[in-house]
Amino acid sequence: MNEFRADLHCHSTCSDGTLTPEELIRKAKEIGLSALSITDHDTIEGYQAAPLIAKEMGIDLIPGVEFSTKFEQTSIHILAYGFDLESPAIHSFCKRHLERRYLRNLEILTLLKKHGMPLTEEELAPREKQGTIGRPHIAHAMMQRGYVTTIEEAFHKFIGDNKPCFSMGPVFTVAETIDLIHEANGLAVIAHPHLIQDKKIVNKLLQFNFDGIECYYAYFPKEKILPWLKIAKEKKWLITGGSDFHGTVKPKSSLGSSYIGEDLYTQIKQASYA
Ligand code: AMP
Ligand code: ZN
Ligand code: FE
Ligand code: FE
Repeated sequence: MNEFRADLHCHSTCSDGTLTPEELIRKAKEIGLSALSITDHDTIEGYQAAPLIAKEMGIDLIPGVEFSTKFEQTSIHILAYGFDLESPAIHSFCKRHLERRYLRNLEILTLLKKHGMPLTEEELAPREKQGTIGRPHIAHAMMQRGYVTTIEEAFHKFIGDNKPCFSMGPVFTVAETIDLIHEANGLAVIAHPHLIQDKKIVNKLLQFNFDGIECYYAYFPKEKILPWLKIAKEKKWLITGGSDFHGTVKPKSSLGSSYIGEDLYTQIKQASYA
């Protein structure tokens, strides 16, 4: 019998991952995961087909999404889990994110053009693409045109946070995102706190009414996990974890490289609507 492992953070082709939801679930099965959450950026379109496939494959799939927010000029990601997939509130929030991203991407294309790197909207993704389009799509198009040689270079020189061609566009706040998640009967979780450089921002975020914190993340070693476990314990928050797998666009994090065990997963399921 395999050890129970739940990877609660990965991206599909419905946002900026390179595997379809079906391929993700098959891969999860292949590597012996017991449970999975597909947490695409600002979209739940992957959940149109995924629940049935997961059921067939014997993978426990918990609804998930990773929302983009801004807090004091810093980009903050909030994971939502176990919400009602039929909730009109979450569907309309995702639609608003789609509009936000459309405007933001146009702003980035304008800045790239100013820097001598024109790209058309059509180069970012096929018209029929499901879900959201993000900076990795822009980075890929820049590479195709020969403006950069790697995705990393595109972020490092041009489109990474606060770089010359970066635009955050319209934003949603942490508070409204948590409220929305709660309205959809979901659990609001601080994503990868390890990546937030400014400790003052972390301390302020800890004052919000989150339900959990992503303590186990990507390839972070044990000593980097401990402070977050301590906070979870103090706050009586749920402990989540996941790889942030994106497929070939982010090859360092493989599916299942970070996960939680059965006890923590059961706690999340018990606190969940779905
Ligand atoms: P967006 O949601 O459109 O702002 O894009 C954010 C996504 O870009 C993240 O979730 C990562 O997948 C990717 N990303 C951010 N920084 C980098 C980087 N330095 N190199 C490669 N990918 C990155
Ligand atoms: Zn991503
Ligand atoms: Fe993230
Ligand atoms: Fe992510």
